Amino acid sequence: MMTSAARAAPQVEPCATGSNVLGLSRIVEIDTSGGPIFGRGSNDFLAEGEIVLTFDDGPSRSHTRAVLKALEQHCTKATFFLVGRMAAADPMMVREVADAGHTIGSHTWSHAKLSSLTAAKAEEEVELGLSVVAAALDGPVAPFFRFPYLRPNTAAVAYFKERGIGSFMIDVDSRDFRTRDPEEVKKNVLTQLAGRRKGIILFHDIQPSTVRALPSLLAELKDRGFKVVHMVPKETAHTLPEYDARAAKLLSKKLEAAKASPLAPRSLTWPQTDTEEVLPWRMHSTSAAQPPTAAATNEPATVPWYKKWLTP
Ligand SMILES: [Zn+2]
Repeated sequence: MMTSAARAAPQVEPCATGSNVLGLSRIVEIDTSGGPIFGRGSNDFLAEGEIVLTFDDGPSRSHTRAVLKALEQHCTKATFFLVGRMAAADPMMVREVADAGHTIGSHTWSHAKLSSLTAAKAEEEVELGLSVVAAALDGPVAPFFRFPYLRPNTAAVAYFKERGIGSFMIDVDSRDFRTRDPEEVKKNVLTQLAGRRKGIILFHDIQPSTVRALPSLLAELKDRGFKVVHMVPKETAHTLPEYDARAAKLLSKKLEAAKASPLAPRSLTWPQTDTEEVLPWRMHSTSAAQPPTAAATNEPATVPWYKKWLTP
């Protein structure tokens, strides 16, 4: 679906060089041909003091919007590794993230641990995730991938070499999923950065602790002299027609609904709690949130709404 196109070299926006914002120090074009792995010391493109902000597992409208706002206030850019199911649940939010100038990568279809899957199943998770995110965005997606649980599948790593998909490990872990305390998120990031002075930082834009930590953490990173590098792809991802067809089916209902009532985006999203991580496809098993109503999904209420996506 997506093809690469010639374009001008990326430029840092003027607001990103302001003295009171974290901003951006530079934009790096990442060449993913040959399926390189980044982070944990491999293919290191960062100088001392340079950091890359990454957000996994979204989008989740109620949290992602706040993350976007914090990034915008610091005129800085990040990479979002989206889960296919999350993107399918709220394609408009995917576009909002991209419209804000952030890079969109992918993080499988269902956040499966690829290291425990066969090569064929892992490929399906990767490709469907990529196609769904691209379809939700209806624009260029980066061939940037993050393994769920940071657990690579050996076959997938080999497959990425053919597909020209780069995978990104991390250097600094906010551990935001382990805490609701924003101070702990800040401490985790700043402590790890104090030791290594640079690196790819992992956050989750579905985590309230990150949402709450971000404004003051970004200010603190500025104070400590860290510089943000924005990763953009040299070439955009090439999706596979077979998976694009499946992605189009998965997305069609959502997009039709969005077209019919563009002013009611909230009604098109799954309910979220702001007190704990609730991934949409797990909502049925939590007491804190209810699955969407039958009217919202056009499915009989007795059929778990997410089931239709399990074997699309
Ligand atoms: Zn994840």
